[in-house]
Amino acid sequence: MAIRISPDIAGIVPYSPGKPIEEVERELGITGSIKLASNENPRGPSPKALAVLAEAAKTVNRYPDGGGYYLRDALAERWKVTPDQIILGNGSDEVITLLTKAFLEPGDEAVMADPSFVVYKIDVAAEHAKPVLVPLKEHRHDLPAMAKAVTPKTRLAFICNPNNPTGTYVTAAAVTAFMRAIPPDVIVVFDEAYYEYVTAADYPDTMSLLKAGRNVVLLRTFSKIYGLAGLRIGYGLTTPEIVQHLNRIRPPFNTNSLAQKAALAALADEEHVRESRRLNTEGMAYLAERLRALGLTVVPSQANFLYFDVHQDGKAVFEALLRRGVIVRHLSGPFLRVTVGLPQENERFITALQTVLKS
Ligand SMILES: *Cc1c(COP(=O)(O)O)cnc(C)c1O
Repeated sequence: MAIRISPDIAGIVPYSPGKPIEEVERELGITGSIKLASNENPRGPSPKALAVLAEAAKTVNRYPDGGGYYLRDALAERWKVTPDQIILGNGSDEVITLLTKAFLEPGDEAVMADPSFVVYKIDVAAEHAKPVLVPLKEHRHDLPAMAKAVTPKTRLAFICNPNNPTGTYVTAAAVTAFMRAIPPDVIVVFDEAYYEYVTAADYPDTMSLLKAGRNVVLLRTFSKIYGLAGLRIGYGLTTPEIVQHLNRIRPPFNTNSLAQKAALAALADEEHVRESRRLNTEGMAYLAERLRALGLTVVPSQANFLYFDVHQDGKAVFEALLRRGVIVRHLSGPFLRVTVGLPQENERFITALQTVLKS
């Protein structure tokens, strides 16, 4: 007999992650590929995190500390908040899921940009609520239009800053105007997964909104600059009230013991973060310059990836790069996204792209 499925769930397009290197090589019968597709730190994890992991592995017979006491304590100290303002997640992805589960009822609305991080619309639809998509304007969140899209049914608004996949950011002034325009009971989620890469002076200080008592959630992660994507750990900074609600539905052991300990060590390794940021800034400048020299349009980025227009079928270019062992992301139409890699990876990508564009 046919199973029953809600049309809301059946309508979800599954998230398609950047292809793992092993899968690409198996499918194409090639070796020596490079992955510049998932905005990971190409330098790897902090050596301090690696050292802690080896030791922590000896006690994986024990359940983790479900409350993540030491990590929340360190994060509270880092951000000058109290530990009851911090929610840990199995990646910041899970914090997004907790937010949609806790705050959305069927028929509610959540405002978000399009294109943006696709997890938002998947999680909203999974709660039988409605993702309200507001098109980007010049590849950037159109915050005035997003404010206008807020209705009495709106419970959540997602602002991905810098935005994935475009790398653009919204300014402090734009955020201030947005926060003034919307009702105070709408929870505004600032997804700041690339926070540590940002260099723009007018990037918003969202912590000040939290300190002013607004209903905001700042999402941060150890998956990007900290180089711990495989361990799955991220967090949200918000009000104690919102944390309390999220804790009602949080799986009791949602963050594992290895991830908690590695994150604690990575957080303290400021040298690793600094050097990763430096390498990114350098690699980004190189890539932008070379892409423009190839006649392509590059969108300025505050993250660790570049969004660019190849002025032809982007999927064909993506696939041709794949056959040359270079994994990037195809978004839609002529747009590709490439993660800044190590210098030799960036060079290999440019050489491959040059060959692909010529043929
Ligand atoms: C990578 C990324 C995340 C982080 O995901 P994790 O679950 O923490 O690995 C969140 N938001 C955006 C926009 C991202 O690009």
